[in-house]
Amino acid sequence: MASSIGNTAIKRIRADVREMMTDPSDQYYAAPLESNMFDWHFTIRGPRDTEFEGGIFHGRILLPSEYPFKPPNIILLTPNGRFEVKKKICLSISAYHPEHWQPAWGVRLILEALISFMPTKGEGAIGALDFTAEERKKLAKESVVWSCPQCGSIKDLIPEETKRDKPVESKYASQIAQLHIHNMEGATPSTPSEETSSEEEATPTEKPMATSSDADESPQSEAAPVPASVAAAAPVQPVAPAVTIPAPAPARAPSSDVVDNVLQGIATALIVAFLALLYKKLLQLNGSIE
Ligand SMILES: [Zn+2]
Repeated sequence: MASSIGNTAIKRIRADVREMMTDPSDQYYAAPLESNMFDWHFTIRGPRDTEFEGGIFHGRILLPSEYPFKPPNIILLTPNGRFEVKKKICLSISAYHPEHWQPAWGVRLILEALISFMPTKGEGAIGALDFTAEERKKLAKESVVWSCPQCGSIKDLIPEETKRDKPVESKYASQIAQLHIHNMEGATPSTPSEETSSEEEATPTEKPMATSSDADESPQSEAAPVPASVAAAAPVQPVAPAVTIPAPAPARAPSSDVVDNVLQGIATALIVAFLALLYKKLLQLNGSIE
């Protein structure tokens, strides 16, 4: 029943609000809009010892009506150089990856995971940006004066940072570490490199020896070296060794080579697709066992 799901979500969202109020962090803050409990606005500090340090970033967490059984969408609003703004970003905690989401997780884990993902590589994920450290530092500096049309000046939304030597250990540390592993797995694999052509290098022609009898007198010999272009223009065809074993394929015309390459490409693509499918099935199998 839709209404009972809605009730579950509202109860859970109220619990998330209470948790944020009773155990506040100086690294993040979030609250739902008064007009819509499913639309949260959050403020996070850029993680220490990274190019985001000193920055304050604001965004939205859009909880689904099936919350906490389905993951939220996450949108950044403050320019930061790691995530596109006003775009639903792809992370292992976001709606793009329901397979990783666990109902026990709430807004607090989402924010802590988001902060920990900031210094990681974008890997071409949806909404990811790979700005340089300098650009990110500049954006972090500018971010503190950023203002949300609905919430106002974002630096006033987050509790004052308390001085401490070490960052507070998150109670979700091990789960967040696991999420980083998932994110690595989700990264698009690099395309296999093209086969390098095995073209024969032109055998270098013998350089004419300097005929000067006295080497000390004229080290720069007058003998003109063969220009490289001339040497390359006439590649020496290697003499094919006498074939004694019957060759399975006689010398092929260039056109059949092209066909062969295309067929090989298709075969490779099919194998890769099959392996990807197998890997996905394995993951699903793992998920159902868990
Ligand atoms: Zn806001």
